[in-house]
Amino acid sequence: MNQETSDIFEGGASLLVVGALLDGRIADISIDEEGTIRAIGEDIWKECRGEAEFIIDASGRVAIPGLVNTHTHAAMTLLRGYADDMHLQEWLADMIWPLEAHLTAEDVYWGTKLACLEMIRTGTIGFNDMYFFMEEAARAVDETGMKAQLCYGFIDLGDADKREAEIQATEKLVRAIRALDNPRIVPAVGPHAPYTVSVEGLEWCASYADAEDIGIHVHLAETEKEVRDCVELTGMRPVALLDWCNCLSSRTLAAHGCWLDEQECTLLGERGVSVSHNPASNMKLAVNRAMPYHWLHRAGVRVTLGTDGCASNNNLDLFEEMKFAALLQKFFWNSDTLLPAGEALAMATSAGAQALGFGPGRIEQGAPADIVLLDRRSLCMTPLHNVTSNIVYACSGHAADTVLCDGRILMFEKTIPGEEEIREKAEEQAEDLVRRSQ
Ligand SMILES: [Zn+2]
Repeated sequence: MNQETSDIFEGGASLLVVGALLDGRIADISIDEEGTIRAIGEDIWKECRGEAEFIIDASGRVAIPGLVNTHTHAAMTLLRGYADDMHLQEWLADMIWPLEAHLTAEDVYWGTKLACLEMIRTGTIGFNDMYFFMEEAARAVDETGMKAQLCYGFIDLGDADKREAEIQATEKLVRAIRALDNPRIVPAVGPHAPYTVSVEGLEWCASYADAEDIGIHVHLAETEKEVRDCVELTGMRPVALLDWCNCLSSRTLAAHGCWLDEQECTLLGERGVSVSHNPASNMKLAVNRAMPYHWLHRAGVRVTLGTDGCASNNNLDLFEEMKFAALLQKFFWNSDTLLPAGEALAMATSAGAQALGFGPGRIEQGAPADIVLLDRRSLCMTPLHNVTSNIVYACSGHAADTVLCDGRILMFEKTIPGEEEIREKAEEQAEDLVRRSQ
């Protein structure tokens, strides 16, 4: 560091990362004040050091692209550990929904702040969120410097009045996010799921997303029951229903996909849809089937990784999620070669970044500087026979040491500004939420 440490979190400065282990070799990374990677190479520090405002000594660090969480409900961090080990329906009806009925804008703000803190600490630079009071989520993300695609969870349950209210709420959020004028935060439309949104609602979401040129974030085929109900009610499986309502395009990100059949995977591939795998949540809620990664992969579907909300995970650590994904796929589909470590890492980085339009999700010239430095000396990196294997199978997110998003330093050598205040406020807010709901 060649300036006061407190300044380094401001952003807008050119950086030089020196001596990181990147793709098996030692390299320097030069980043301009716009947050774009200008050059990568061995010993380029000699030419670039004069231009850089800050120099980060990355010797003893492994550089990887920033991780992207493609399905979460960030503010649900306030519900971490509130209710576990229950039947899904009782868990929702007796514990989660009654608490959510008392949720306020203030809760969502602090819950999202806590989520962002946890994500930064564990190497995640951006995420895809669906919840309520999302203007407050946007405000929270704006303050952190992370990237996010945010949507309001649109649920009309077939009721025309409710639908109109959901349309208003969706449009209001899109306007609010645009007014923030932060290129790192983009709006999306969030039809909650084919079983909670009417055909009219789904059609509106599709046409609005198209008109506004924004993404669609939807839950898809998470449980066997919802697939069976969908067929009974509409005569179509959920993918066909979404397609019929024009909800499937390259801007669509569908979460879970546990109960997809092979034909559905093929159609998702043809439509260019991305699918977010959420193995921890799926296992915890015992959905009884793993997302068919092999069919999706064969169909050319971009498969990404998500944690889902903290009530069903119970953390936002994508390193754990990579391991769960690689293990669950192998176990469930009885294939010891399915989803190797390199593919799990790509799911959490390049696939996620590309699905949300955050850039290539790779450390390369011209790309946004979304970079995580991992501590090479941590036990999970010792010995270093295979970096990717250690990242996916041995490490947790606590191996993350320094995090850059668009060239702005969000965590430096494990320090995140304001961390203790956020932690304390979020804890108070969570206790208050439980009190209000009783
Ligand atoms: Zn979800």
